[in-house]
Amino acid sequence: MTPADEQPATARSGPRPKPWIEGIHAYVPGRSRSADGAPLVKLSANENPLGTSAAALAARTDAPAPNAYPDPDATALRTAIGARNGIDPARIVCGTGSDELLNLAAQGFAGPGDEVIYVRYGFAVYDIAARRCGAVPVVAPDRDYGTDVDALLACVTERTRVVFVANPNNPTGRYIGAEDMRRLHAGLPENVLLVIDQAYAEYLAPGEDDGGMALATAHGNVLVTRTFSKIYGLAGDRIGWATGAPPLIDVLNRIRGPFNVTLAGQAAAIAAVGDEDFVTRSRDHNAAERARFVAAIAAMGNHGLRTVESEANFVLVLFEGALSAETALLAIQDAGYAVRWLPGQGLPHALRITIGTAAQMDAIAGVLCRLTDAGA
Ligand code: PMP
Repeated sequence: MTPADEQPATARSGPRPKPWIEGIHAYVPGRSRSADGAPLVKLSANENPLGTSAAALAARTDAPAPNAYPDPDATALRTAIGARNGIDPARIVCGTGSDELLNLAAQGFAGPGDEVIYVRYGFAVYDIAARRCGAVPVVAPDRDYGTDVDALLACVTERTRVVFVANPNNPTGRYIGAEDMRRLHAGLPENVLLVIDQAYAEYLAPGEDDGGMALATAHGNVLVTRTFSKIYGLAGDRIGWATGAPPLIDVLNRIRGPFNVTLAGQAAAIAAVGDEDFVTRSRDHNAAERARFVAAIAAMGNHGLRTVESEANFVLVLFEGALSAETALLAIQDAGYAVRWLPGQGLPHALRITIGTAAQMDAIAGVLCRLTDAGA
């Protein structure tokens, strides 16, 4: 690093970033390597341990050569998503991951001086999305690591423009049901956009539904986002989608990248939507391994470890006794695994562990068991 690089951006003579951009801490992705560069098994980014649907992989390979631009409107993909979910494709917009759509939702409806609310221990992108359009992020208190509807509503002011709720929530895994979601929406003024981020919704037990899609159908101020990165196993292709009233979709279409979903990605996602068997297998695997892992932690007895109830493809383990999350993180890394430690998000006492294969979960539980036994 040269001395010039070490100076704060504002002290340099070149272009000056907007002050609200300087307040942003770049998103920290889940690690895949140890401090000395050795590759680790990645249980730090909530990816699908079963891989990708074979049909999606085949469609990706068969996609047209990439010298041509993709369909800018992702028409066939929106049609497939609409057919699968009972939604008019005109009410769907696709994005470069749901990350793009979350950012566009903030950018489209909030600006300098406005407020954007999310829950403490919410998804890190909400803070970035709010700040990058100059809005003020407002953090509502959680209720035992979950969304507290009353606390959220108590934060609403006349400057509130957007409320983000991940359901299930990341990094905690907590979930609120349809009655709470309906109450949250009913308590918001009509000019506030409620973004219900359902990145992990496909992991919910069959029949479980937070009612977000119904709210997005019935009201002009609800946007639901989904992703192909989790249960569909297409994180590397960066595809998400959002649904809501046509005026909301129109706003996102105006400000999104014109060719924001790749040719191969569109082809893969269309095939993935059609492979319900892969989705079911992934959900069943996750439910079984999550339950087994939670039971393994509980069986360790009274060592200060507990899991936050999760409806997603990861579990937040709290370290409230002698064994610290950081010590456990290092031991898990030494065993060859990356899990997520989030001190920057107010969780120095927790590890978020993605549900992997049975052997991977046994290995993680084995490390924790050894550590707690050693400390007992
Ligand atoms: N929302 C939540 C709650 C997430 O956890 C993630 C991924 N970590 C995303 C959105 C974004 O996913 P993607 O951009 O891959 O669709």
